[in-house]
Amino acid sequence: MQSTSSRVVILGTGGTIAGTAASASDQVGYSAAQLGVAQLVAAVPELAGVPLEAEQLAQLDSKDMDHATWRALAQRVARHLERDEVAGVVVTHGTDTLEETAWFLQRVLAPRKPVVLCAAMRPATALSPDGPPNLRDAVRVAREPGARGVLAVLAGQVHGAAEVQKLHAYRIDAFGSGEAGPLACVEESRVRMLRAWPEGDALGLGLVQADPADWPRVEIVTSHAGAGGAIVEALCAQGVDGLVVAASGNGTVHHALESALLAAQRQGVAVLRATRCVFGRVIPVAGQALADAGGLNPVKARVELLLRLLAARLSAGAPCPPRTSRAARRT
Ligand code: ASP
Repeated sequence: MQSTSSRVVILGTGGTIAGTAASASDQVGYSAAQLGVAQLVAAVPELAGVPLEAEQLAQLDSKDMDHATWRALAQRVARHLERDEVAGVVVTHGTDTLEETAWFLQRVLAPRKPVVLCAAMRPATALSPDGPPNLRDAVRVAREPGARGVLAVLAGQVHGAAEVQKLHAYRIDAFGSGEAGPLACVEESRVRMLRAWPEGDALGLGLVQADPADWPRVEIVTSHAGAGGAIVEALCAQGVDGLVVAASGNGTVHHALESALLAAQRQGVAVLRATRCVFGRVIPVAGQALADAGGLNPVKARVELLLRLLAARLSAGAPCPPRTSRAARRT
């Protein structure tokens, strides 16, 4: 049922949007996660008449995002979405790992109301900060009738969690949705739809209830010229549970690395191939021994594999195993 409510909850987690520098001309030498979420709201005059609540969930540079914060965020977002008067939730976040948090929340919650990640490339102290207009637009999208799913709003564009990706290290229009393009634009406080809001089934909060310290360990290895299998062997010796290979082109993997990954898979390590390419997806080839991640980039594929492993544990009713080496677990 479509919500008729209009209240928006803004959860602050830090990032450059809450960052400060000593000088207004400094857009790179700043400290992220300095201002509280209430200060970010106060900097946007257009939000004055909007029914809002602001809550500080975390205060970190998103390069340091961690599983415990993800779990707390998912739980808090879910709690607010349950409230009838809440139209949507906005999460202020750093840009560095925004796409990973987006995919995590989408897969766990697949919300029927909008959950809008909002970030900035410039600190709040910049001469021309992008945080305030992005926050204004994010709140606008959170109140858009019919909007749903985990979204990201930056530079006047609305992206879906599946496609959104940070593509530029500096520019304020740093994000894109690849070939799919954005879901919508925000123009003069109007949302202009380009594609349908995302669909999807929630894996559910039960999946992430275990202590994050006990979650499966999933790492990313890269296939590149001169690649070998030593890293995979070392990770297996440490008891890694899953490996994502950032593969070249259409999911191709250096033969030396591939041998090690196949050996790891035989030992019970889950392996997924994602492409290093910014555009396109891994198109399945008959007989491939290593599963592919479709259109997910390597960092989202890592989230996906982590959640699949958690789901497998949950459906097996298995308690979280203590972290021991994989070799030791087999004995
Ligand atoms: N390092 C910052 C962060 O991800 C970058 C940003 O927000 O633009 O928190």
